[in-house]
Amino acid sequence: MEISFTKLRLFRECPWKYKLRMVDGRRVALTPAASLGLSLHRALECFHRKEAPAAEYLWECFEGRWLASGYPDEKTRQSWRAKGRRILERYLEDDRERRSVVAAVEREFLYPLGRHEVRGTIDRIDRHPDGRIEVIDYKTFGAGEKLDDNDELQLRFYGLGAFESLALAPSILTLYFVASGRKVSLAHDAGAQESLKSIILESAQRIEAGAFPPDASHCPACDFRTTCAHSSAP
Ligand code: SF4
Repeated sequence: MEISFTKLRLFRECPWKYKLRMVDGRRVALTPAASLGLSLHRALECFHRKEAPAAEYLWECFEGRWLASGYPDEKTRQSWRAKGRRILERYLEDDRERRSVVAAVEREFLYPLGRHEVRGTIDRIDRHPDGRIEVIDYKTFGAGEKLDDNDELQLRFYGLGAFESLALAPSILTLYFVASGRKVSLAHDAGAQESLKSIILESAQRIEAGAFPPDASHCPACDFRTTCAHSSAP
């Protein structure tokens, strides 16, 4: 099977949730926050694809890549659009201080793992003046005080993808919380790659075996908590 970080995360949160999303095809409604997050990702991809872009180009990208769906009405849409512009204004301020070079954006990777394939897309890869490679994943919201287990797993998943598929040896793995401007980084741990591969392989094998027991510990934060037959959420 082909495994992505989204599949891995869903399965590890709750195997039953994985089944609802990936096997049964249940969809989750796009929220304003999720929609704005997509618009910002698209705008930043557009902006950094251009070599040495002028700051004004980001506004062109934001308007051109704006995703209008996910908002209940026009007033709400415009309110979130204004929020997006404020986020990008501060992003531009931070970006003026950047010393690294943007080497790639939305870079896909694909590599074999056992009889499976691991696929993903890295938001941004930077090359620092001293030659170090930084893998960056944008998160729209969140304070960015510290990384939780899921954040760490995600960064290591992308670091492994860069190593296995793109012939890169990243030394910094960063979550960039664009709304707050905070960056939280991990040092890439090459020694942990084998254990991450084991985690991915074990999950892929359990998914293929059709083992989808519900895990109620995730119910309070689950998108399906009001409709799932196994939900323990009040
Ligand atoms: S509501 Fe609970 S049991 Fe149901 S899919 Fe979500 S996390 Fe799993």
